Amino acid sequence: MRKDHRKPDTPATNSRQMFQNIYSRLIFRCSFLISLGVTPIDRYDFKSQLLSWYTQNKRDLPFRDTGDAYKIWLSEIMLQQTTVATVIDYYTRFVSYFPNVLAVAKADEDQLLNLWQGLGYYSRIRNFKKACDYISRELDGKIPQSAAALKELPGVGDYTAAAIASIAYGEAVATIDGNVKRVIARLFCYKKEITSREATEFFNQKAAELLDKKAPGDFNQAMMELGATVCMPKNPKCQTCPVGEFCESRGKNPESLPVKAKTKYIDTHYKALVVKTTDGLLLKRPSSTSLIKNMWEIPCLYQSEAIGDMIAKAFKTKTSETLQITALGSVRHAITNKRITTAIFATNPNQRLIKRLNKKDFEFVAFDDLSRLTLNTLSKKILKHIDKTAP
Ligand code: SF4
Repeated sequence: MRKDHRKPDTPATNSRQMFQNIYSRLIFRCSFLISLGVTPIDRYDFKSQLLSWYTQNKRDLPFRDTGDAYKIWLSEIMLQQTTVATVIDYYTRFVSYFPNVLAVAKADEDQLLNLWQGLGYYSRIRNFKKACDYISRELDGKIPQSAAALKELPGVGDYTAAAIASIAYGEAVATIDGNVKRVIARLFCYKKEITSREATEFFNQKAAELLDKKAPGDFNQAMMELGATVCMPKNPKCQTCPVGEFCESRGKNPESLPVKAKTKYIDTHYKALVVKTTDGLLLKRPSSTSLIKNMWEIPCLYQSEAIGDMIAKAFKTKTSETLQITALGSVRHAITNKRITTAIFATNPNQRLIKRLNKKDFEFVAFDDLSRLTLNTLSKKILKHIDKTAP
């Protein structure tokens, strides 16, 4: 047995050694992190505190705690541009009709659009359908398992691919949505404009550094949950934030972060034509030439176009000038950076004109049947504005 030649410790040497140990560990940790060019967040403590908060506080949502890539994918595309509260019912209903990729592949696009009605941004469901068709036809119904392969599908970008790959398959890839960018900007007190190339690189780098590679799905969801429920755009709950001790902007006006350039709105003016008969309301069929493409709509045109031209198109006539046109006020609507003001006009065609209806592009739909069609949001607003009884 080897002899221990060390002198026994006195209380004074004990406490001096303890202090030296703590000091040297602290110096090592800071110099290591600073050498990486990052703020000295202790990543281990950050991850464990965030994950333990998430485990205890995550909202009970129907699309959480499932490993089903189809359901995770569906919920993620529904959640783009839409609040969680709105998505819950849509998600539950959609999954009850179409529980998997093959069911979506077999469905008509109209059936899917109908279930999507009200969520807006319809290109999401059209791309989802295309992707499910492709998976069913080319991949034997199997959803790809890596973020790189998922990104090849229509409508699947970096964020959605990372969410599916990390939550369903455990791939160590970070999800970066608006919530995560806000949290990172505040944690590191980052003040460059959020959409700049430099900022994108910064968020990618920090998200990858912070990611818990042993539990990437939970970690990604925890970051998003933190942004949605604690580190909110207005009035962040810094006092109860589970990672507040690591946050550089706490107490320094975190609401001012992330820095965003002012949105430049484009004012746009449309006209809408309301035609009511005993057969119902005149609607324009979905078309790629409509102002809001591929949706049923109350006929709309640009302000510079003549109402008479729309009447001529709808009733295959050149006699529009004989019709009386009444102004019914206007509605306002916004699509991304477009602020649209639509002036509403009404007219009452006679039976001779009604018989000439251009049925290829237009249809009279009874008010009671409107809910079976996927109307664009602008048309729904116009509907609220007009009297919905037949003349
Ligand atoms: Fe956000 Fe405040 Fe938490 Fe910082 S301390 S991450 S600003 S909630």
